[in-house]
Amino acid sequence: MTDAGKLIVISGPSGAGKSSVVFKAMETRSDLCFSTSVTTRDPRPGEIDGREYFFIDQTRFDEMVANDELLEHAVYVKHSYGTPRKFVETRLAEGMNVILDIEVQGARQVSERFPGAVRIFIIPPSLEELRRRLLNRGTDSEEVIDARLERARQEYGEADFYDYLIVNDELEKAAKEFSAILDAEHCRFADRSYLLNRR
Ligand code: ADP
Ligand code: 5GP
Repeated sequence: MTDAGKLIVISGPSGAGKSSVVFKAMETRSDLCFSTSVTTRDPRPGEIDGREYFFIDQTRFDEMVANDELLEHAVYVKHSYGTPRKFVETRLAEGMNVILDIEVQGARQVSERFPGAVRIFIIPPSLEELRRRLLNRGTDSEEVIDARLERARQEYGEADFYDYLIVNDELEKAAKEFSAILDAEHCRFADRSYLLNRR
């Protein structure tokens, strides 16, 4: 018997650096994989269908919901987002740690279905810094950035639902903290008790 994969839910404002932190951690560990969500929003310049997201229309999205193909789903700033269920279940069974980068409503649904999911909230050092990062990223209009900042303020009010909080000030440090959380989670007694019989 070996450690099973963990389901890791990361949330936090868009632009906080969630994907940057996970990609940094992936440079030093091979036991992580991202789940690719479906969304009805348009691809940003540089985004590729099947890499950042599967870009689908609302009709296909509704069909996936009706067929129970999504583990969770939610609306975020006027668009629908969801996590395809099959990929997650297959990779967890293979022992991979599967990362879901999803917003708070989705995180709540996942926790109900997977009580063992590890919930990490990632924030930038300040909301001014968040605005700067979103402007620098150059992928959203000022209007969309304002809507995302407003949503970020709302999400901060729900952050106490999470198990861990990471402030992504310095990327290297944030990635180390992320990795340390995974290591600690894999040392949980309930997951390791089988080792006691190996005396
Ligand atoms: P998210 O996945 O949370 O939407 P991204 O990983 O896309 O965020 O990061 C948003 C922007 O902020 C990107 O341009 C990224 O390069 C930048 N960024 C990420 N982490 C940091 C950091 N620690 N310091 C400065 N800029 C960062
Ligand atoms: P973005 O449009 O910036 O890529 O993502 C916007 C928000 O949607 C982010 O907070 C991101 O975490 C969230 N999100 C991305 N995929 C999913 C998903 O499959 N389900 C849910 N609930 N939220 C998602």
